[in-house]
Amino acid sequence: MIQKLIVANWKMNPQSLKEAKKLFNSVKNWLKRYSNVLKNIRIIICPPFVYLPNFSPLTSNSQHLTSNIYLGAQDLFWEEKGAFTGEISPRMLKNLGVEYVIVGHSERRKILEETDEMINKKLKAAIKAKLKPILCIGEKRREVGSRKYEEIRNQLKKALKGIPNSFFRLPDSLIIAYEPVWAIGTGNPCKPENTKEVLLFLRKIVKFPILYGGSVNSKIAKDYIEVGFDGLLVGGASLDSKEFIEIIKGVARC
Ligand code: PEP
Repeated sequence: MIQKLIVANWKMNPQSLKEAKKLFNSVKNWLKRYSNVLKNIRIIICPPFVYLPNFSPLTSNSQHLTSNIYLGAQDLFWEEKGAFTGEISPRMLKNLGVEYVIVGHSERRKILEETDEMINKKLKAAIKAKLKPILCIGEKRREVGSRKYEEIRNQLKKALKGIPNSFFRLPDSLIIAYEPVWAIGTGNPCKPENTKEVLLFLRKIVKFPILYGGSVNSKIAKDYIEVGFDGLLVGGASLDSKEFIEIIKGVARC
């Protein structure tokens, strides 16, 4: 059965562990209750680093993880260890039971000035540590025409530079998140019908699962699956458990 992926990017939220646990537990408990009818869905929760140990499937009090909920990180560093103050290594994540990691999110590209070269190094480090990267790409400005495709193609090419061909034959080892930057966190999603062409364009280049991200809400979530995406990357709406559950329900019905 082909699973749809729904990634929850909590970004720098919530502010306390208590709130983080409440949010995680409400999604987890709901998933547990309906796990038999949600076999076609895989949920990947990406909380801030500091909360990861609390949700790790490897800790004794975390046997709560149902078969369709996985842990992801929002970033990683490319070096294995050493004098890199404030950074988190791939192995640290792996040792916590983290399976996925977001790489190249537009907020990091923009605010923290992450370059394509840095993203390429992070991607390689994630792959080496056997973490599954969720690579974010997307045009900065709302535009139609060839410039958009050129920008996306360049991001992809630079991110994947030097990755062995054999890797591309393992279709589940990497996930692409198409996230038009102008749609992220704006409440102004790219209309599903307007994402179709980019999806087809990406399908010609890579065989990996492709997600849509950018102001997804429960009213339109299923429409992206209907146009052919393999899942969603959800930011703001993943912080409201009721809304997030509605998104999952919408995707599960497809
Ligand atoms: C994101 O964090 O990648 C994202 C898509 O956020 P939002 O859903 O809030 O636009």
